[in-house]
Amino acid sequence: MIKRVLERAGKIIFEAIFPSNIYCISCGSLIDKTRNYSLCDKCMGKLHWINGRTCDKCGKALPQTYKGRFCYDCMTYSHYFSKGYSCLTYGMYERELLFDFKYRGKSYLAEKFADILYDRMACEDIQIDVIIPIPVGAERLRKRGYDQSVLMADNLSARWCVPVAKDILLRKRDTPFLRGLSPVERENVLKNVFCISQTGQKTVRSKRILLVDDIYTTGSTADACSKELLEKGAEDIFLLTLASGGNRKPKMV
Ligand SMILES: [Zn+2]
Ligand SMILES: [Zn+2]
Repeated sequence: MIKRVLERAGKIIFEAIFPSNIYCISCGSLIDKTRNYSLCDKCMGKLHWINGRTCDKCGKALPQTYKGRFCYDCMTYSHYFSKGYSCLTYGMYERELLFDFKYRGKSYLAEKFADILYDRMACEDIQIDVIIPIPVGAERLRKRGYDQSVLMADNLSARWCVPVAKDILLRKRDTPFLRGLSPVERENVLKNVFCISQTGQKTVRSKRILLVDDIYTTGSTADACSKELLEKGAEDIFLLTLASGGNRKPKMV
């Protein structure tokens, strides 16, 4: 209780000294407090919002001229999760924002990102029982001081009124960065990395779960988590990420 009061007081003092919402979170220019996601017009225009055609499985953006329902990766590899949703296509500006969030200590971006995630799901007709963040490894958590997926999931839960379950999907060990590995190599690296806690097994049984993560590439991490959750009796797994990228160029058919 005292801890919570102190945290709240700390937030109020911090807000008075460093008011949020007056600088664009991407370029730092002064903005009106009412701006969506605290982004200036220029940066809103620069970011690659996913609002056109998307892959029916993973949710990545598809070129308008592409005729298929699925991206190249989803046509080549199957997934354990039912459907993915993503808000932005990973590019230079998205990369900078995510680097600020993950490596430059700007944990407050979780609130803005949760607004983006919330708006992305507002138009989708799916029922979710519980939100589960995909956890980072212990070593990265120690270095960073916070888990970016947990922060986003917490903030999303507060907006959406869907409960969040933390500390039930566990990462047993840190994994190397998966960049450059093929999907099969990624699957091998991620084998037995995730597990569900003893108490969590009851929480996930017969539940429709939304996994939350910052970025989606090939879906290997989401699949490793989904596999564990389904084995423990989860009914359905959906995935929501802030950004997605890394897709191989789909064949134009
Ligand atoms: Zn800006
Ligand atoms: Zn796909």
